[in-house]
Amino acid sequence: MNLALQSPVSALGRIGSTTASRLKRLGIETISDLIFYYPFRWEDLSLISDIIDVKPEETFTIKGRLQLIKSRRSPVKKRMLTEGLVVDKTGSIKVIWFNQPYLSKVLVEGDEVYLSGKVSFDKYTLQLINPVYEKVRTEKATHTARIVPVYSLTSNLTQKQIRFLIKQSLGVIDFVREFLPDDVIDEYQLVSLGKALQQIHFPENKKELDEAINRLKFDELFLFQLQAQLSKLDLVSSLAEAINFSEEEIKFFVQSLPFKLTNDQKKAAWQIITDLKRNRPMNRLLEGEVGSGKTVVATMAMYNTALADKQSVIMAPTEILAAQHYRTITELLSNTDIKFALVTRSQQLIGKTETTKKKILEKISSGEVKIVIGTHSLIQESVLFASLALVVVDEQHRFGVGQRKLLQEKSGSPESIPHLLSMTATPIPRSLALTMYGDLDLSVIRELPKERKKIITKIISPKEREDTYQFIKEQVAEGRQIFVICPLIDPSDKLGVKAVTDEYKILNTQIFPDLTIGMLHGKLKPKNKESVMKEFLSKLSDILVSTSVVEVGVDVPNATVMVIEGAERFGLAQLHQFRGRVGRSNYQSYCFLFSENKNQKTKERLAALVSAKDGFELAEYDLKFRGPGEVYGVKQSGWLDFKIAKFSDYKIIEKAKTAAEKLIEEHPDLKDYPELKIKIDNFLQNLHLE
Ligand code: ADP
Ligand code: MG
Repeated sequence: MNLALQSPVSALGRIGSTTASRLKRLGIETISDLIFYYPFRWEDLSLISDIIDVKPEETFTIKGRLQLIKSRRSPVKKRMLTEGLVVDKTGSIKVIWFNQPYLSKVLVEGDEVYLSGKVSFDKYTLQLINPVYEKVRTEKATHTARIVPVYSLTSNLTQKQIRFLIKQSLGVIDFVREFLPDDVIDEYQLVSLGKALQQIHFPENKKELDEAINRLKFDELFLFQLQAQLSKLDLVSSLAEAINFSEEEIKFFVQSLPFKLTNDQKKAAWQIITDLKRNRPMNRLLEGEVGSGKTVVATMAMYNTALADKQSVIMAPTEILAAQHYRTITELLSNTDIKFALVTRSQQLIGKTETTKKKILEKISSGEVKIVIGTHSLIQESVLFASLALVVVDEQHRFGVGQRKLLQEKSGSPESIPHLLSMTATPIPRSLALTMYGDLDLSVIRELPKERKKIITKIISPKEREDTYQFIKEQVAEGRQIFVICPLIDPSDKLGVKAVTDEYKILNTQIFPDLTIGMLHGKLKPKNKESVMKEFLSKLSDILVSTSVVEVGVDVPNATVMVIEGAERFGLAQLHQFRGRVGRSNYQSYCFLFSENKNQKTKERLAALVSAKDGFELAEYDLKFRGPGEVYGVKQSGWLDFKIAKFSDYKIIEKAKTAAEKLIEEHPDLKDYPELKIKIDNFLQNLHLE
């Protein structure tokens, strides 16, 4: 058989079309895909114990000879039992497998085998339950008696299958080209790529595994840092529209706000306005605690841009949020004659007037509309601008180079790149943000408006439920409003229709029959969602029952109670986001975490939410105790999708950053590194296609 890296998996032995299509579901189509499919954990079964030493309730690997093996049907539960007896030079132990009758054909008396599994005590004797088995051969074992890779798999593929396939694929490992410069490999004492790939799957020992993990993490972080440096370089040498600071008008704008800006808001606004004055594209991340008032800062920047007769666009992840920005901007700019428009799938407005998409697009391309508000899908629209100079992206950390290019083409002046402001409420410790996002400038709003009261957070046990409902009634009687968030309980209920409908019924008929309750879930049409939100905003409903769709950004100042059902099912970052929906006014606000889970870990986790001062503190806590993978809601919020590197890999992040900076400084065009260039291009593609 003649294997190559790009051969389809079907070129391997013992693989049928069913297995191939199952692999495809994991994104594995070629030999190379298999090689780069890293295990997500490893089980150390390398220690082979003497039978005499095994103890109950622990996992052991033994090596011995089968003295007996046979299958029978158990009389009690009617399941198939395969029983055997294994002997080594120190003793013998009974082995038992459930529901694998074929085993008595695969294994026969006299076979020498490795067995890895849990030992338990049965009546009078110790026995090995459902162990992984593998016959002893001359070559090294694959599934036992070693550090064994464990892969994340979908249904119907087994660990044994994929290990077998990967092991075969590694036969062509020599064709994998090294792409790291020799200098980098030497300086950071990395193992070669081929070796790392071999060792990530089948390490001979812990040291080999660590070497492999280190190298492959370095690869991801290095490529990431390299592309960040490259795009920074690209931006530094690009042109943007320089936007004058309209000092007088902006001062007037700030004075006529219904509140005083916080110092952090002023500082962020100033940094942005200073960036805009330059004829180099701004690339800034505005990171602000939930409810810290990022929108008004962005509005100032867009207003300033409009005053310079240039256009801005602000994009939100959902229609609800786009509509909310629209309302906010309408209010903030009410004393000006700046024209702005809302363009979403279900709504097109200029000022307060409903109009057609066609009309709006005309007015955008004529330059009459200065500020365009929409969802992220605006990029795909056939919109052409007269002079787009500023792009604001809300609740998304990274705006792809590709996306930026697309907007540039529509900007009306393709030779200049629009300034970019991304905004996020995900609190990342500054040091981490700087290392991971070295190509972005960072503004942080940590301070909340002064008059804000701390949200009182409580974990509510089942027996306090009644009292809590009573409290909610009192809040409503005082004119306040309530959010109730329901988790998705039933996996088939992806859009939360059932979870929310059930909760709605209970609240509406049994608990709060006198109150008006609105309902929001993923199945509603955008138009209906919008009208449910509007009802809640204008106080036509007292309670809003919802799935996590209200998660980011929704602003209802009059809401003071956030109830979260099944709180343990949500991540901390997400819970913090939910909580941020209340406490947006001077009223004292509350967050009630309903949890029936008595697990100690869960309690501690939720308790962190009670004690943490703000999202930044929570993030640091999470970073320390849980590792960052899940902490920030990495996947949901468009953070990076590394295969093996983690945010907690500070040391490797630092090294990768230094190495990337040095390389770019010495070889800005990477001309001498064709392999690296190919890698970078692939990496970019994967990064921005999500
Ligand atoms: P986020 O940063 O989460 O996007 P928003 O921009 O939605 O927060 O602002 C939250 C609320 O705080 C809004 O109702 C806004 O009008 C109000 N707000 C913003 N800045 C201030 C301030 N300096 N003082 C008081 N209220 C403010
Ligand atoms: Mg916001």
